[in-house]
Amino acid sequence: MSPLDRFCDTELSRKLMGRVAALADEVAERLGRPAVFIEVCGTHTVAISRLGLRSLLAGRVELRSGPGCPVCVTDHQEIDMMVNLARLAGVTLGTFGDMLRVPGSRSSLERERAGGADVRIFYSPLDAVAFAEANPEREVVFLGIGFETTAPVVASTLTRARAKGVKNFSIFSAHKLIPPAIRAVLSDPVLKLDGLILPGHVSAITGRRAFDFIVKEYGLPSVISGFEPMDILIALHELLLQLLRGEARVVNKYTRVVREEGNLDARKRIAECFEEVDVPWRGLGVIPESGLSLRETFRDFDARFKLNIEPAPPTSHYPPGCACKEILRGKLLPPECRLFSNVCTPVHPVGPCMVSSEGACAAYYRFERFSPVGGGI
Ligand code: SF4
Repeated sequence: MSPLDRFCDTELSRKLMGRVAALADEVAERLGRPAVFIEVCGTHTVAISRLGLRSLLAGRVELRSGPGCPVCVTDHQEIDMMVNLARLAGVTLGTFGDMLRVPGSRSSLERERAGGADVRIFYSPLDAVAFAEANPEREVVFLGIGFETTAPVVASTLTRARAKGVKNFSIFSAHKLIPPAIRAVLSDPVLKLDGLILPGHVSAITGRRAFDFIVKEYGLPSVISGFEPMDILIALHELLLQLLRGEARVVNKYTRVVREEGNLDARKRIAECFEEVDVPWRGLGVIPESGLSLRETFRDFDARFKLNIEPAPPTSHYPPGCACKEILRGKLLPPECRLFSNVCTPVHPVGPCMVSSEGACAAYYRFERFSPVGGGI
């Protein structure tokens, strides 16, 4: 029996679900409405949808999705710059697959590839380095997309590429940091939340302490959670208990992976390669010190400087009717977008939240489009 099996145990999950439902009833009675929690991470969004927790808890707890899908929050301006890179002669653009179909203001990488640009999917930045070594006549630019979890891998790749003397490899960094995005979401006076399920993967790098500001600045209960059924039920149980007791703490319920200080080696690698900068997030605008730009010492690997790419003009173009902006801030649920499942589907996505498999709209479409969910704000 794998140690993970107990986190998927059906009988235990059923019992815990009963306790969560009972606590949720108590909390709803006390508040005069269902408790509203946000899950920050896209992997949690998918897990919660797959488990059907939203419909099981409908009327007792509302579970909203946040800005935790890295593809969904990549801004139009950044995608426009990636498109400009793809159009340069002699450039091979390497990316993770989900990024291809996300629309910028004028085009997407998929459209550029169909038009002849050399855009390739790599499963690891190291594969992109290997491709660069095998194709010295090409400049290979890898798109650094993702949160604290991806940045250390890219940092290690750069160090390796430098050590090997690879000269035709560079990074376009669009990395983003989760704590500043949480602060931006919580600062919205319209959004009334009762607690947060914090991202397990990101917390493995940042550590629990990185989220103490949620209690200090916003007084909200928060739980770092894993991704198995029992993990999520344990997180909900903890949030509801804190609400009933009138407490607000950041509790780590993913102790098999997350430490107080996080992964010190990964944090060191990030700090060596990157510096924090203000960057735009789709749906949230420019958030101070929420992105990672390559340090000057890595400028020879920075595609923005190496290929002289000018910043694209800021734009907030959204397809008519698309509610991604509100969904990424936890203000609406996907079925509340009038395009959901009729016009916008995974085969014909209108906005980024339907493109990525971790996007809230894609998760709802796949697992919950016939289930009852709570209402918007
Ligand atoms: S359903 Fe489609 S159009 Fe509506 S918010 Fe989601 S991605 Fe945008």
